[in-house]
Amino acid sequence: MPEAPVFQPLPTVPDHPALEEEILARWDAEATFEKLREQNRGGPRFSFMDGPITANNPAGVHHGHGRTLKDVFQRYKAMQGFDERYQNGFDSQGLWVEVEVEKSLGLASKHEIEEYGLAEFARKCVERVAHYSEVMTDQCRRLGQWMDWDNDYYTFSDTNIEYIWGFLKTVHERGWLYRGHRSTQWCPRCGTSLSQHEQAGEENYIEMEHPSLYVRFPLRGRDGESLVVWTTTPWTLPANVAAAVKPDADYGLTSDGRWVAVARFPDESFVRTVRGTDLVGLEYTGPFDELDAQAGVVHRVIPWDEVSLDEGTGIVHIATGAGAEDFELSRVHDLPVLAPIDEAGRMLPPYGEFAGFTTTEVAVRVIDALHARGLLASEGTIVHRYPICWRCKTPLVFRVVDDWFISAQEIRQPMLDANATVEWTPPQYKKRMDDWLRNMDDWNISRKRYFGLPLPFYPCACGELNVIGSRAELEERAVSGLEQLEELHRPWIDAVRIRCASCDAELERIPEVGDAWLDAGIVHFSTLGWNNPEWIPHGYATGASAELSGADLPDHAYWEKWFPADWVSEMREQIRLWFYSQCFMSVTLTGRSPYRRVLTYEKVFDEKGKPMHKSTGNAIELNEALERMGADVMRWLYCAQTPSEPLKFGYGLADDVKRRFLTFWNSVKFFVDYANVSGFRPTWGALHLHGDLAPLDRWLVERTHAFVLDAEAAYEAYDTVGVMRGYEAYADDLSNWYIRRSRRRFWEGRELEAFQTLWYGLVQALRVMAPIMPFVTDHLWRNLVPDGPESVHLAGWPEVEEPDRALLDEIADVRRVVALAHQARATSGLRLRQPLRKLVVEGAPAAAVHAGEIADEVRVHEVEFGTVAAELRVKPHLPALGPRLGKELPAVQQALQAGEFEQLDGGRFRAAGHELGPDEVLVERAGLEGSAVASADGVAVALDTTLDDELLLEGRAFDLVRQVNSMRKDQGLALTDRIVLTLPTGDSELAQRYGDRIKDEVLAVEIRVDGDAGLSIAKV
Ligand SMILES: [Zn+2]
Ligand SMILES: [Zn+2]
Repeated sequence: MPEAPVFQPLPTVPDHPALEEEILARWDAEATFEKLREQNRGGPRFSFMDGPITANNPAGVHHGHGRTLKDVFQRYKAMQGFDERYQNGFDSQGLWVEVEVEKSLGLASKHEIEEYGLAEFARKCVERVAHYSEVMTDQCRRLGQWMDWDNDYYTFSDTNIEYIWGFLKTVHERGWLYRGHRSTQWCPRCGTSLSQHEQAGEENYIEMEHPSLYVRFPLRGRDGESLVVWTTTPWTLPANVAAAVKPDADYGLTSDGRWVAVARFPDESFVRTVRGTDLVGLEYTGPFDELDAQAGVVHRVIPWDEVSLDEGTGIVHIATGAGAEDFELSRVHDLPVLAPIDEAGRMLPPYGEFAGFTTTEVAVRVIDALHARGLLASEGTIVHRYPICWRCKTPLVFRVVDDWFISAQEIRQPMLDANATVEWTPPQYKKRMDDWLRNMDDWNISRKRYFGLPLPFYPCACGELNVIGSRAELEERAVSGLEQLEELHRPWIDAVRIRCASCDAELERIPEVGDAWLDAGIVHFSTLGWNNPEWIPHGYATGASAELSGADLPDHAYWEKWFPADWVSEMREQIRLWFYSQCFMSVTLTGRSPYRRVLTYEKVFDEKGKPMHKSTGNAIELNEALERMGADVMRWLYCAQTPSEPLKFGYGLADDVKRRFLTFWNSVKFFVDYANVSGFRPTWGALHLHGDLAPLDRWLVERTHAFVLDAEAAYEAYDTVGVMRGYEAYADDLSNWYIRRSRRRFWEGRELEAFQTLWYGLVQALRVMAPIMPFVTDHLWRNLVPDGPESVHLAGWPEVEEPDRALLDEIADVRRVVALAHQARATSGLRLRQPLRKLVVEGAPAAAVHAGEIADEVRVHEVEFGTVAAELRVKPHLPALGPRLGKELPAVQQALQAGEFEQLDGGRFRAAGHELGPDEVLVERAGLEGSAVASADGVAVALDTTLDDELLLEGRAFDLVRQVNSMRKDQGLALTDRIVLTLPTGDSELAQRYGDRIKDEVLAVEIRVDGDAGLSIAKV
């Protein structure tokens, strides 16, 4: 029986999804991840803090992007021997979860949630999170992410909530907490206000069509004169209280009695013109003065510097209860505030005929009423950008309500100082964070909702605001309701009453819950046990998360060890969300940034660069992508694209990745096939090569070292694009230079050094790429390294010496010369197999010692280093030369065109008395008769294209070799099978002149020339 091959033969193309499932099973069976953690325990620490993912739906391909980047760098650091925490986080309360649960229960309003019951609603929220955290865990495992699954943190745990309470108490003690009465963006579906940081994203605006109305406000005591205002929100007109003009602008009265800004109507002829200040104080009749809501309102003209002269009429309708700036103006000018709508966006009873209608429904009624009163100057529609709820996509309105805020005033500069210590990748995002911090408003932390962080605020009529900082404090101060407190959520928490610290009154909690970004911002403290005196096993998994996680609550010493995070990574939009909230909370509590480094990245789009939407049919499900392209291919796609640009994702791109991966796969397959024939057997202990190596082997070793070190530098800079670029260049050098140049050494199977060198290169490359493509690298590792670490992920990062860069540059020059020669040949139309007489090379002198290899690769008889005879055409590079030469330019231009120039060294030229640098000219070389030239970056080659009978016959020999080799393949011959080759008589000269070479190339033991037969081969 023949001995089993050392290496498992590889198929021509890998089946990524199938091999990934196999590897996952191996990791499970062998507990590979646990072994890795054990191996690194006690090593240097790399502290990564996971930004929680919301467990409300299955993960999408955009989550796959972030999860991949996190996993890549955690794996890389693990290969470097770092001890890591690997704790995964789930965001699990707030609007994210509530809205999905409402949908699944068919609840359409807050009223219906209350009827359904808050306790049951809370349970449904927990159920949904429990379900989807399991779904997401499966998806992330399939993607290859290694985390400490089952010890996840959930932001709805009582521990997390308590830590936020502690933060809020601190904020209160510093005097930053206040209740604000403000105009706020309001979602009528969710029935809550939303804050600046949630709403700031571009995705929270859509194009909408709205009415565009020009409305007359008749002036009192000025018969026939009206102010004309412009509005796109008819529902706000019944709440009008004032009209604003720009004090220093000119306003004109038209012959038909309309007052408008002159700048807005330049073609209009006015009967009278005044300054805005002259209109201030005038009173007018409001459009709906008969409504109860309008009782006692005196409408007047107010000054406002911010009135825009870019749109409308230059006179602005002010509804103080329905717009943010309008509300601010009410404070300045002491205007009444009319709030026209309720929580659900319906007009309130004092609005008479309009009461009960939504802001959209009421528009047509308002327009009809304006018509009837003759107040509508003109009517149309407008398409403009309009804000929608970040969570449920309902168009927003403004309402004036009470909300709770944390003042940003005192923390702004400390946060900027903290951000100055952070290294951002890509670096330009650091400035974006600074910009956000400079412009952030006070933090609106309250939401009028149900399943979220209960704000621990107990205001008292005596003026005291009681803020509870922990569960212990709550228990101490409670007067009733503790016995039913299942967890720190509504409705249970609402039933606990406490005693006022200053007057002894019994108090209730405010009904509001907290902004979900408080939940995620506190995790640097809550999960690391910041002010926890002793370690509590499973102590983090409290309240709603008790059944879901086994996470411990560590002690303060542990926090000291792991805080701040060395690295965090999330999407760019998190600048105004998680990066902001965690920085805010950490700077408040400790005065420093909770992270040292950030990697941030843009959105995932489809492969044409369009946003993915289920409605447009271009969305790809994560599971479908995992099944169809495989995790490694996805990870390659994620890692190869610049993080500061939208990432393209799709099946066409995946096919391209699969094709490009074949360069490396084929190199491994080549090795496996020939190594099995030769009987080469590697030993892990003898990985490193010693002694004198053949020049090509030495080059591959040096090339491998350069690849390892360059990749290490890229990983250290959180630059996956750099790793991928280095890898692709290396795979190309390995396949298209080392293997290509060494083929014969492998065929003959005698040179074990060649096998050893190639094995070394492949094995080191697998280690470098393991963080990015963890499956296929482990699959190949297990095949190539029979006696080493059982998984590439346990093999550590390769330690290599500084490479001989001079040698690498030399071969890089050789490869450039060869590439240029191929380019020149392509322009000549001569096929690659046709041998030619001569190649002349100019530049790249270091390549001269490799003339023989160049001749072989380019298939020429002679390589000469000298001057390429070519017609030189030099043109001015105008963007560079124009500004420098000014009016001298035409003279230089003429001289160059006439060929009157002198060539200097270093790619410089002299023309019309001016010296021109290499960046200032465009140089073309046209081959002389009988030659083809190509040039780039200071290297030029000229290929002698004249053919003679001799060269033509040799070309036929090469054609024949190719033909025979493809016949061997078609007939299924093994690599080592020897043949007898039969040629027709017409080819007898070929056989005579080139027989030995042909035999060698096609493994023929004999060539027969047979007059009657065609070309044939027979296995011997
Ligand atoms: Zn909403
Ligand atoms: Zn009190």
